[in-house]
Amino acid sequence: MTLLKAVRGTRDLLPPETELWDRVETTARRVFARYNFGEIRTPIFEDTSLFSRSVGEETDIVSKEMYTWEDRARAQSEKSQSLTLRPENTAGVVRAYIEHKLGESGLLQKLCYIGPQFRRERPQKGRYRQFWQIGAEVIGPPSAGSESPLRDAEVLEMLASFLDELGINGWTLVLNSVGSSTDRPKYIAALREALKDKAPQMCADCQRRAETNPLRVLDCKVPEDQPIIETLPKIADFLDDASKAHFAAVLAALDACGVRYEINPRLVRGLDYYTRTTFEFTHGGLGAQNALLGGGRYDGLSEMLGGPRAPGIGFAMGLDRLILTLQAAQAESAPTLADAFVAPLGESLNADALALARELRRKGLQIELGDGGFRLKKSFEIGNKLARNIVLLGEDEQRSGILTVKHFATGEQTKIPRAELAQALRNS
Ligand code: AMP
Repeated sequence: MTLLKAVRGTRDLLPPETELWDRVETTARRVFARYNFGEIRTPIFEDTSLFSRSVGEETDIVSKEMYTWEDRARAQSEKSQSLTLRPENTAGVVRAYIEHKLGESGLLQKLCYIGPQFRRERPQKGRYRQFWQIGAEVIGPPSAGSESPLRDAEVLEMLASFLDELGINGWTLVLNSVGSSTDRPKYIAALREALKDKAPQMCADCQRRAETNPLRVLDCKVPEDQPIIETLPKIADFLDDASKAHFAAVLAALDACGVRYEINPRLVRGLDYYTRTTFEFTHGGLGAQNALLGGGRYDGLSEMLGGPRAPGIGFAMGLDRLILTLQAAQAESAPTLADAFVAPLGESLNADALALARELRRKGLQIELGDGGFRLKKSFEIGNKLARNIVLLGEDEQRSGILTVKHFATGEQTKIPRAELAQALRNS
């Protein structure tokens, strides 16, 4: 029988790696809460048109990467419907904002999420078909200040603080402005025009993108194409005065709080809904897929989905890539060990060993419980792999209430009264 495996581009997350996932998620929730974000959980699948209308028909995501199926009607009262596993979460959040009339409060909505996303991409290191994103959106009516460049800078400052608090060193914030919804079409038209002559000398992908989504040409990594890309029109020359002022205010606020950035005029990001500020945080350790996170402003998205005017800014962070970065940093450091391995010396002591483990766990210690069926040598071998200490529970120990504890690193063996054991293990 052929063995079943996780589907290509998906994977199981196993301990101890899941501890890191938990740490990243807990840190995100803690940091975002300080900025008054609340968590939103939207469905994992949505009506397909949500993504074609927002992300854009011509993007790689919508044109070839979505998991879409026709959901057949099961009753006369139902209609069949095209559904899609969400490839990103901003569209779902904005749909929920509109559906629940969140703008009617007149206040900014600050919503964050953590969850899996799905794209049929070519799997490689840091790129999966099911991957996880942590993201946040700040969205609201213009009267709530949702268009202010201060919101952009605050989100960027929060991200810098989050990465620092997580212990990710060596990130770079790359910024650009793609202008307003009127600047951008003018720029795209100029790009299309310039590419008419130039695209035939470029790679096959660029030739296709020149037709379908010319902005994507700027993302091309093929070395031979780079000199040609340098000669293409720059978005900065197409920004109107309001967009220029907005970008300058974002930069001034970042300067004021000491968040360093680089400006990259080629960072346009391919999703249709972006306006004005776009950004990425990159990390050198990630290789080809070097973006830890990406985001930007999307002032017209709510209207694209039939909602009220609700400018916003948000980001999505690749949790898989954060973990890869943290793992690389952790590779040299020691693995985390349990506080103790409790070893009953004989099966008749198993029940009391469980009681002892319960006592210690209830005091907050991390305990591995052995088995009285193991020989002493085997208990020591396993204990040494999993914990800093081994606690021996034999008949003598049970009778006297004084446990024998060996600290693996020093080899030191001591006798400790049961009541003092938790404290001693914690300090070991
Ligand atoms: P995007 O929604 O394309 O702007 O992506 C935002 C972030 O999600 C990226 O910077 C990556 O960190 C992460 N990401 C996007 N696609 C994938 C993928 N296929 N696998 C893993 N992470 C991804």
